[in-house]
Amino acid sequence: MKYTCLADLQAELKAGSVKMIDVVNAHIERIEQHADLNIFLEVFAGDARERATVVDQKFQHGSAGKLAGMIISIKDNMCYKGHGVSASSKILEGFESLYTATAVQRLIDEDAIIIGRTNCDEFAMGSSNENSAFGSVKNPLNHKLSPGGSSGGAAASVAADLCHVALGSDTGGSIRQPASFTGIIGHKPTYGRVSRYGLIAYASSFDQIGPFAKDMSDIARVMEVMGGADPMDSTCSLKAADEHGDLSAPEDKLKIAYFPDVLDRDGLDPEIKTHIQGKLEELKAAGHELNPIEFPYIDSLVPIYYILTTAEASSNLARYDGVHMGYRSENATDLESTYKKSRTEGFGEEVKRRIMLGTFVLSSGYYDAYYGKAQKARNLIRQKTDEILAENDAILLPTSPHTAFPLDQELTDPTVMYLEDIFTVQANIAGNPAISIPTGKHSNGMPFGIQLMTNRFEDDKLLRIAKMVSES
Ligand code: GLN
Repeated sequence: MKYTCLADLQAELKAGSVKMIDVVNAHIERIEQHADLNIFLEVFAGDARERATVVDQKFQHGSAGKLAGMIISIKDNMCYKGHGVSASSKILEGFESLYTATAVQRLIDEDAIIIGRTNCDEFAMGSSNENSAFGSVKNPLNHKLSPGGSSGGAAASVAADLCHVALGSDTGGSIRQPASFTGIIGHKPTYGRVSRYGLIAYASSFDQIGPFAKDMSDIARVMEVMGGADPMDSTCSLKAADEHGDLSAPEDKLKIAYFPDVLDRDGLDPEIKTHIQGKLEELKAAGHELNPIEFPYIDSLVPIYYILTTAEASSNLARYDGVHMGYRSENATDLESTYKKSRTEGFGEEVKRRIMLGTFVLSSGYYDAYYGKAQKARNLIRQKTDEILAENDAILLPTSPHTAFPLDQELTDPTVMYLEDIFTVQANIAGNPAISIPTGKHSNGMPFGIQLMTNRFEDDKLLRIAKMVSES
């Protein structure tokens, strides 16, 4: 049976025409067949089979949870008690989670099956998955290309049909950009919509957990279960999770903002530009109002993002000291050399670069010039985004300047990769929800997405608009 969406599979499971254990076994087999893509760092085969048997029993007794039937992969930066987790870093070598992330627990409580943990850029820092200590992931659509990052394994696991839904995390685009590169949906919820408890921190005021799927209703079902207040995360909103229902299109005609400057940028692939212009025309023809907006901060977005996230990372990653957990250098002779050598040997190049950059922007001589200034600029971006969304229902943007790029490009300047994030970081800087939907197909054969963004806590409206735009 070909998977379409959870509702269809549940109907079969309820009728008894399909057994969960067979669905799980088929997925494990498929994962093994696609091992060369390097998507999974670990498959929880035993657990998944056990849970499948329980789910089959629950269907027989009529007690199956809301997500029964769904097979989900988790990015290797989410804790799942008793299972390994490494943030794709050598520094967490041998570490096992001591508790389960709230987001993951809520899925399990509704009978979803967690199939394994997926490869990603080390500590979610990167846009190509090449910063993983365990090698890069291949794009299932073309093995010479990157699946994007940092949630490259997550996106690829859904694109290659190795699971139904994947959880990723998005600090500056890590759900949306890989979704665009692999031709699936990727949703970054409003900051505070999903608890971060049990998510290994990169930049705490930016990080959000969110789902990847091929079907919008699957995104909705997962968000309904995963969202909502959590006493274990004080930055998580007290608002209850959304009820998305059938995601019917908004009744009124919409006002959609776009940034003509973005479409005129040199770096934007001309076919993506044409596709977006076409979408805008279609929306206009359907009676929606389109509003070209001057957004004066485009070129400041990436610098602001990299100052603030590296500052937060330098603090968050201080806990990996070779003493508390994970990797400890064998060459250490005393406490100080334990710290120095364990961190030097345990972290990869990009992570070390960011810790140093973050330490620099927070240092007393430069704090005001960099960190303080970037905080002020963050407020301006947030205000401007709020202003636009006070007058408009959504902002429509490209997700990425181009389609998936080749693996193993020799980049001598790290900022070239940082510029990949130009269209995605605004949502994280301002805290708004955003989604990438796979509407485009390039003449080079690869898919690409367009991005939509709404007001904070208008995730429901975002999904409805996104579904409408995908179907138009
Ligand atoms: N590519 C961005 C970075 O390297 C975004 C990463 C993310 O969202 N986790 O920081």
